[in-house]
Order: sequence, then C-alpha cells, then structure tokens
Amino acid sequence: MSKRDYYEILGVAAESSGDEIKSAYRKLAFKYHPDRNPDDPEAEAMFKEAAEAYEVLRDPDKRERYDRFGHDGINDNGFSGFSNADDIFGAFSDIFSDVFGFSGGGGRRARAGSDLRYNLVISFRDAAKGAEVDIRIPVEETCGECDGSGARKGTTPQTCPQCGGTGTVHQTQGFFRVAVTCPHCRGRGVLITDPCHECMGRGSVVVDKDLKVRIPAGVDNNSRLRLRGEGEAGLYGGPPGDLYVVIQVEPDKTFEREGQNLILSREISFVQASLGHRMQVPTLDDPVDLDIPKGTQSGEIFRLRGLGLPHLGSTHKGDLLIEIRVKTPTHLNKRQEELLLEFQELEEGKPLKKAKDFFKKAKDKVMGE
Ligand SMILES: [Zn+2]
Ligand SMILES: [Zn+2]
Repeated sequence: MSKRDYYEILGVAAESSGDEIKSAYRKLAFKYHPDRNPDDPEAEAMFKEAAEAYEVLRDPDKRERYDRFGHDGINDNGFSGFSNADDIFGAFSDIFSDVFGFSGGGGRRARAGSDLRYNLVISFRDAAKGAEVDIRIPVEETCGECDGSGARKGTTPQTCPQCGGTGTVHQTQGFFRVAVTCPHCRGRGVLITDPCHECMGRGSVVVDKDLKVRIPAGVDNNSRLRLRGEGEAGLYGGPPGDLYVVIQVEPDKTFEREGQNLILSREISFVQASLGHRMQVPTLDDPVDLDIPKGTQSGEIFRLRGLGLPHLGSTHKGDLLIEIRVKTPTHLNKRQEELLLEFQELEEGKPLKKAKDFFKKAKDKVMGE
C-alpha cells in the first residue's frame, strides 16, 4: 500500500525549517480536529495522517532517515502511526494546549460527572470535637433492567437523527465551533420509543448510597468537605464528580463562637466583683476554676488560652473568653440598705444620719407617687 509523502501531507517544501513544519501541522490539526468534525471518517483520517507526518518530520533523526529511505526508514524503527485521536493529543499536548486552549488528553468524548452538594447539619459538639457522620445520598445508577439503554427489554433505541447518535451538536461561537448537548435527545444520542418500565426510559435509577463523612474538629458554618469521586458518575468513561458536604453547625446553649474562640458570659454580684471570687466555668471538656480578682469591672474579659476550638488541620486551638457582668442588686432588705449606706458614708465621708434621711425621703417620694 502506497503512503503519501509526509512533506506533501503537511504541504511544506522538503527544505522547510522545523518552525515551518510545526506551523503547517498546527493549521491542519486545527482544520481536521475531531471536535470540529464529529463523525467524519475522512477528517479523522487526515487528522491522523498529519499527526504521523509531523511526528516524523519534527524529529531531526527520523526526518533524516525518512529523507534517505522513505517510509521504510521509519517503519523499520517501530513507528506505525497513531491508532486514535487521544494518542495524538497526548503526543502533541503542547500544540493542542496552545492552539485550542485545551489539551484533550483525557479522551474527547469522556465527560466528567457533575459535582454534587450535600448540606449537613451537625451539632456544636461534633463541630468542636470532630465526628464521623453517616449520610445517605441519592445517586443515579445504571438501570439493571435495561442495562442503561432505557429501552424496554428486547427492543433497541433509535439513533437520534439530529446528532447522529453523538449526543452533541456544534454551534459556532466566533472563530470556534463548540460542542453542546443535543437538545433533541438530551445528549443520550438515542431516542427511546418503547421505554423500560423500571427506569421510565431514563436508563438510570436513583438509589440511596450510604457514606461515612469524617468531620474534622474545628469546622464552622459553610466549611466544605470534599469527597473525591462521590459525585455524579461520569459519561463515556469520564471520571465521576466530587461530593461537597457543606456544613451547618447548630448553635450551642452554653457557648457562642467567634472563629475558633469560644465566648461565655457570666454574672457575678457586685460584692464578688469587689472582693474577688472563684467560680467554675464550663469548657468543651471538664469545667475549670476561674479566679476573678478583686476589683473586677463589669464587661471585663478573661481569657483561658487553648480552651477554644482547634484550627482545621492543626493542633493549635483558639481560646475560651469569659465576659464578666456585674449584677446590681434590685431588692435589698433593710439591713442590706443600712450596710450600703454605711459603706457609702465610709467612701464619701458624709455623715451617716444625713445620708439616711436623704435616702428615706427619696424612697418616700417614689413610693408616694
Ligand atoms: Zn431501565
Ligand atoms: Zn441527539
């Protein structure tokens, strides 16, 4: 079988430079690219032929052998052309990435499955401590009854006339033609006239899939966990998508959260604030003692380092912040009033009797109204 001359295929002169050869091949590769010529065997043959010619002529050794011995000089050395387009994309990925803006290395019809999202609500404790949670997600699986054809057992689906069974049609966008899902068959490539009863012609059925999700300690609202390959199944051998678990954390009765810090509010009496006080505060683990020093003001914040939530992927932890509120007493008995008046006198150096009279008068006034 006679083979065409490589220089002739690329349309270049025998003395062409490497750059001229590359540029000539680039043009042909674009012209006969399978994405622009779907299901066109002639274009496919040209695409392969050009690739073979370029494979030889771009390599100075092979080119020299070819110049001296013709096709025999090449075939004797184990090169027998390309068997499919994917090999070509792989061999000349530099050309395809800069000319077409994609490498096409993964097989041109393969389509990755979509990523899926699952919203997961977890307790505050699980977010703080980490947990393993079972989730159940609905996934599409090939229908067992019709083996995914969608057609009733014993019948065959019709090839879609609009896309010729490829599932894609081409639209022109400026200089490029882009492949889009065929609207007639919705990308299936076939039309079902007698649908499978099990899947209603979809070719797939929805089944529940149980998954374990490991929640790392320290996650917050809107943290996303990626479960590689657990998304929608790919098409035509394409890889499956990923599953993104998006976390929502329930609020806690005890703690507020600010980033990795926990915030707690505690009330103490003005006497405790004045004299100092030891109190127990809750933490994520066991309660701890907190010493409130003498003279603490309302609104003061005490920080217990490392008792907050862990930072994701780190052993470093946030802090526990305790905000102290000093409570002013509202119902004093007579004795308490007296003591406070005495206290006030000591503080301000005013005569006791006078202050007492003033207090009584003010009180009578309020009660009298
Ligand atoms: Zn079915
Ligand atoms: Zn179609």
